[in-house]
Amino acid sequence: MEETLSIIKPDGVNKKLIGTILKKFEDNGFEIINIKRLTLTNEQAGEFYSIHKERPFFKELVSFMTSGPCVPFVIKGENAILRVREIMGATDPSEAAEGTIRADYADSIDKNIIHGSDSKESAEIEIPFFFG
Ligand code: AMP
Repeated sequence: MEETLSIIKPDGVNKKLIGTILKKFEDNGFEIINIKRLTLTNEQAGEFYSIHKERPFFKELVSFMTSGPCVPFVIKGENAILRVREIMGATDPSEAAEGTIRADYADSIDKNIIHGSDSKESAEIEIPFFFG
């Protein structure tokens, strides 16, 4: 059993995809064991994505992530970290496999609907970031 952190980003909330996305994970056998809705501050978004702070897209990423409410949640299940990323699809929706969340709903690489921890180490930092 693993736990991973996912976030429905502001574009996903704006497109009214909260229910659709949670159902997709539940239908795949996962449990949603914690969830909240909040609007990130610049400081919080900058800290969450601090690994990308030297990247050219960092400023745009922080600006987008603070543009409206998002919904972080904790997903629990077998092999959750990898499986959740498979269900999300590739970061760039034009490369995402058919039937994945990003293939179905994302507009672009920077507005890609959903985040998922990329490793056990990331999940162990990202879950307490939102849920203490
Ligand atoms: P990750 O830590 O892999 O989730 O990446 C963080 C987020 O940064 C991604 O989900 C995208 O929203 C954004 N991102 C990653 N690569 C790019 C890129 N080349 N251009 C714009 N945004 C990007």
